[in-house]
Amino acid sequence: MDYLPIFINIKNQPCLIVGGGAVAARKADLFIKSGAIVTVIAPKLGNEMKFHLSHGHIVWHMAEFETELIAEMPKPKLVICATDDQAVNLTVYHTFKALEVPVNVADQTEYCDFILPAIIDRAPMTIAVSTGGRSPVLARIMKARLEMLIPHGFSRLTELVGAYRQKVKDAIADLDGRKAFWEATLSGLFIDKVVHGSQQEAEHILDEALEQVKTQGQSIPQGEVYLIGAGPGDPDLMTFKGLRLLQQADVVLYDRLVAPEIIDMARREAERIYVGKKDKWHKLPQQDINQLMVDLAKEGKRVARLKGGDPYIFGRGAEEAELLVKHKVPFEVVPGITAAAGCSAYAGFPLTHREFSQSVVLVTGHQQAGAKGVDYARLAQSGDTMVFYMGIKNAPQIQAGLLEHGMNPNTPAAIIENGTRANQKTTVTTLGELAMTIEKQTIKPPSLLVVGEVIRVRERLLNPQALSESEKQFYAQESA
Ligand code: SAH
Repeated sequence: MDYLPIFINIKNQPCLIVGGGAVAARKADLFIKSGAIVTVIAPKLGNEMKFHLSHGHIVWHMAEFETELIAEMPKPKLVICATDDQAVNLTVYHTFKALEVPVNVADQTEYCDFILPAIIDRAPMTIAVSTGGRSPVLARIMKARLEMLIPHGFSRLTELVGAYRQKVKDAIADLDGRKAFWEATLSGLFIDKVVHGSQQEAEHILDEALEQVKTQGQSIPQGEVYLIGAGPGDPDLMTFKGLRLLQQADVVLYDRLVAPEIIDMARREAERIYVGKKDKWHKLPQQDINQLMVDLAKEGKRVARLKGGDPYIFGRGAEEAELLVKHKVPFEVVPGITAAAGCSAYAGFPLTHREFSQSVVLVTGHQQAGAKGVDYARLAQSGDTMVFYMGIKNAPQIQAGLLEHGMNPNTPAAIIENGTRANQKTTVTTLGELAMTIEKQTIKPPSLLVVGEVIRVRERLLNPQALSESEKQFYAQESA
């Protein structure tokens, strides 16, 4: 390391800035935020520095820097010099060097006793990044990356944890016990509760854990469940939040539609349990999956329930959530990219378009016994883009239902197999030939059916080589 990274307390301490321009003002801003009493020596001030002056944040000495000037001033704790005049810069440097006051001459590491890092400000949490003066731009790029990773709510999190520090000290006498308490708390859903604003819930979790320590001598790790939407197939379509929660899970429950690459992203030690329905060796009814989830959480485990697409779109996520509520298991639902959004984008057409379709409807092609059937009359008249999930088997009924209620048999229809995966296959046909097209080919699950004029946009967005011969013919006939 070229420099020792330290955080210096300069609250109510005199600090000096020489220079009144934009660079000097940015440095002054750091002093001000840290609570210093800031004096600026400069013959004139730029707009940024005038802003500090007008808010009473600085005291201004309207003058060129001269060594005599500082005789009447209290000795500063730190000095930053940012002027265009190298003679002034050097005078400042040597003057304060002689007084043993640390100096920083902006952008000249050879005249710096200290350097200022790029800062990710989640005060009271502060992250400082330095390249040892080699590349401020690289430090800023690194800062931008970290800004993305650390939600702004970390300020609140740090405040809250600080406020509970003494309480936890009072409740847990030994150091190891306190460490275990905080490690357990600060890795679970608690963080998400605070970061996303639910302060009350977060305090409740802390209070309960502390109460347990008081009554039972230790806090029993509280299990929790994350219902995570893993997207339609391409592992890159998982969300940051989904990944973050997946990586803190002790157990991962997944089904057939979840990409193996996503399951691999769980911790190596995490137990992985397949709960897919389409496997004759491991046929787990939905109730058993739900119960397993509750049981694992009650054992104190962190359970990630990975679901294809979005958990709340034909994913039974709400049924699982309901049971978790009933059993008082804390949980979080992480939305995912649903098959309709993923498959259409990767197939090269949108779901809505100003010229073709003002609305979109997601329909299940597979209905539970006793459920009210799909209203084909309404759909056929709607002008909606229709996306049928689980619709391949019932394609003949879907086709007949829509045609019967007056839909044009020439309306484009698309069958998308293995959407967003490397082996995605898109077949474009018409509503009138949909069932026949499916019958002629072996369609592999998972597959999605889309019906709507908006599919025509595919011709404009894909390069001609990506369109099949029959599809080219199809568009040619249509526009003829
Ligand atoms: N919750 C999921 C849907 C579960 S229902 C979501 O939001 O996407 C399962 C149906 O989704 C499948 O029968 C199929 O119609 C559709 N599906 C899911 N992933 C798909 C994919 N990669 N390609 C095509 N269809 C898919």
